[in-house]
Amino acid sequence: MEILWPYEHGEPGAYYYARYAHPTVVEAEQELGKLDGGDAVLFPSGTGAATALVLTLLQPGDTVALAAGAYFGTSRLFAELGRWGLRYVEFDQTGPPPDGVELVWLEAPSNPFLTMPDLAAAAAYPAPVVVDSTVATPLGLRPLEHGADYALHSATKYLGGHDDVLLGAVVARDGSELRRVRGLTGISPAAEQAALLRRSLRTLEVRVRRQVATAAVIAERLRAHPRVATVRYPGLGSLLSFDVADGEAARRVETSTRLVLNATSLGSVRSLIESRHKWEGDRCPPGLLRLSVGLEEPEELWADLAQALENA
Ligand SMILES: *Cc1c(COP(=O)(O)O)cnc(C)c1O
Repeated sequence: MEILWPYEHGEPGAYYYARYAHPTVVEAEQELGKLDGGDAVLFPSGTGAATALVLTLLQPGDTVALAAGAYFGTSRLFAELGRWGLRYVEFDQTGPPPDGVELVWLEAPSNPFLTMPDLAAAAAYPAPVVVDSTVATPLGLRPLEHGADYALHSATKYLGGHDDVLLGAVVARDGSELRRVRGLTGISPAAEQAALLRRSLRTLEVRVRRQVATAAVIAERLRAHPRVATVRYPGLGSLLSFDVADGEAARRVETSTRLVLNATSLGSVRSLIESRHKWEGDRCPPGLLRLSVGLEEPEELWADLAQALENA
């Protein structure tokens, strides 16, 4: 795909250099914006989107209130940006944000603890509110309609859906400031990835509808299983987590599934399972397994999980 376009009578037209704008990226942004009810801006990954959003909105010395138990990479990113003067505090997102912060960062639902934020309490807060709605997808939640200022997606997950796209997005009421910073910092998405996202968005609704229906069945059966202690599933999206006795039991379960892939990530057409303790350490119970429900036949999926749980 082209990355540059000739000037028109010596002047730049709508497109001249792909770091600033690319027609395929713009088309994907328009489609996603329609789904989420705002102005979508694409970035090369969900983490790139988070970095660009923080660089756009905040100054050194500013503090973010981050939902405790949210995506581990987000807290690691904020810790790293501490060298540039960013501070963050964690809070329980099921209640109101703490006083005196410049940005509120929620996750709907949080990954892998699956709590839902109090969107009304956050909307009443004076600072801007970001909702990472990667797991909910725009079909489960449109954060801007609940008073949030920004929805953030790792489009690598459900929006891409096939384990072949690495992209992120921020949906705002007006994305022009984000686009300006994106062009200046070079946190710009590849057009080939945007083309894959457009392909994936055509099937988003049928994929997510089926994944959510299957996840509800799996959550119910896990709750009734004698080897399973806690099941976290908010009834929205198709990500869930559950606890088995300890780390050893979790290892045995994740290494003995046959249909479910033992891999990181989520939102794929393939079901994925992994222990999160190895990444997140003490903040995550050793027996916690995160399961992203895919498009497999529900009974086959349950049969695979049930045989793996025999080893728990
Ligand atoms: C994966 C993920 C991210 C990060 O996205 P990348 O595309 O991997 O950079 C952010 N938030 C949530 C909730 C995620 O699951």
